[in-house]
Amino acid sequence: MPKNATDLPSGSESAALLGTRGQLPEEQLIYDRLVDAIIDKTLRPGQYLNEVKLAKSYAVPRSRVRRVLERLRDEAVIEFQLNRGAFICRPTVDEARDIFEARRHLESVIVRLACARATKAHIANLHVHLETQRQVFDNRLPAMNRVAGEFHMLLAEMAGNAVLTRMLTLLMRRVCLIQSLYEKQHGVLCLVHEHEKMIALIEANDADGAAAEALTHCLHIEQSLDLSERRRAEVDIYDAISPSH
Ligand SMILES: [Zn+2]
Repeated sequence: MPKNATDLPSGSESAALLGTRGQLPEEQLIYDRLVDAIIDKTLRPGQYLNEVKLAKSYAVPRSRVRRVLERLRDEAVIEFQLNRGAFICRPTVDEARDIFEARRHLESVIVRLACARATKAHIANLHVHLETQRQVFDNRLPAMNRVAGEFHMLLAEMAGNAVLTRMLTLLMRRVCLIQSLYEKQHGVLCLVHEHEKMIALIEANDADGAAAEALTHCLHIEQSLDLSERRRAEVDIYDAISPSH
């Protein structure tokens, strides 16, 4: 396939490559934007992604957009449908339950490690973040989903294990898709007072207590959803977005 002139990396682009582990900067940018849109629920399960329009709007060859979409497919965020193109995944009820089961066990391990490795600076950081959560949740700001997720990622960073952090990062994106699809109207996304309890347990170095609280907290999030085939079918009828090309 002939390469477009814009496909040739500039000097600075080549340098930036070293820091992006083989991902060209534009590809990383498109990837980050798509992930942000999923977390903010701008992009919703079942939505069609127009490869041609994406390539045009980022002024990159279509092959680069395709690479980004393939990366997201490998992360179970996007699926390719034969002769139709790329769509945001719509997790089934069974997949949703598996994802939540994996998440609650992962998070209980994470808080155990966080208890063992927490520094005073970490704990102070959690308290600062808790204040942000209160403001966002009390005012029902659109950033609720993002901020709630950030708290869980902070715990993962405290645990100090890059493999576990990566696993949680990928799971949390799929959790966003599940919440987009199965959330009850005005459903509780995340329970700030439970976060407060988790911080207190980590601060007290109570690993068993923190792990039990992490399990309960994740179960509460799961229970706040309408994980039913009926709900999935309703979204199909009222919310489905068909290809616009
Ligand atoms: Zn939470």
